[in-house]
Amino acid sequence: MPHVSDEDAALQALGSLDTLSADQQHALDAVNTILNDGEPFVDVHVLFGHYNILYFRSLLLPRVDVLWSPRLTLCAGVCELSRDPVTNKFTRIRLKLSTPLLQYRPRSDTINTLLHEAIHAYFFITTSWRHSRGDDGTGHGEGFQLLADAINSHGNYEITIYHTFHDEVDSYRTHVWQCDGPCKDRPPYFGIVKRSMNRAPGKSDSWWSRHEAECGGTYTKTQEPAPTKKKIEAMSKKERAGRQKNKLDGWLKPKEKQETDGKTSHVLKPSSAEDNAHSGASSGKRKAANVS
Ligand SMILES: [Zn+2]
Ligand SMILES: [Zn+2]
Repeated sequence: MPHVSDEDAALQALGSLDTLSADQQHALDAVNTILNDGEPFVDVHVLFGHYNILYFRSLLLPRVDVLWSPRLTLCAGVCELSRDPVTNKFTRIRLKLSTPLLQYRPRSDTINTLLHEAIHAYFFITTSWRHSRGDDGTGHGEGFQLLADAINSHGNYEITIYHTFHDEVDSYRTHVWQCDGPCKDRPPYFGIVKRSMNRAPGKSDSWWSRHEAECGGTYTKTQEPAPTKKKIEAMSKKERAGRQKNKLDGWLKPKEKQETDGKTSHVLKPSSAEDNAHSGASSGKRKAANVS
């Protein structure tokens, strides 16, 4: 069997988004109806069924069982292999969502966590379980980031590569580019591209030529991720103290801005994740979190 890497599998999923099939379009309509229904809760099973068709080439069902776990407390979500009751072989996948961690958070956290784990499940299946053995070290390598970024920009989600909410409250680890052309005034993206990977918008993006023709603007980098834990540990005491101060400023300033300009949805502000999910442009502190 030819070896399929996470990246190969991600590119296949990306390819399926270039032109949506009738089934995918139907799933997208259903997802949008759910996302706009204004309810505080969401049926993850129904949503997962639609995402399976829309983003994962219909490969996840019936193999993946989605369930809420009252005992999962260390991370918001987890994806694990499980035995098929008939064959007794590890050919099924359990995607668990943490009831205690997610039940009181905005539902966008549940949705982003569901998508994060669904990406793991997709790689488990497409790479013949190689992904589950963690060959790339983290489970969140290039392939994961490619697919997460594609889904984020397609549906305006906030899937990240982090495992706990705490990690993300700590820092904004996101690369952001802003277009200076007419699209910067257009919802839902306001000319903003956000990625967990430092990959500038360009020819490798399926939408690139359309953007060249319709907008023609130039993307400039406007935000870099905060340093990783490792980097911070390597910093001197003084540097760390300075960083702490900047972080506090960072939390306070956008709030003032928000008060004077309530309509500015695309400034960076520590607002609720629900807001973030709709603005598509703010860098929220709450994003999907979990473990592979
Ligand atoms: Zn543009
Ligand atoms: Zn993960």
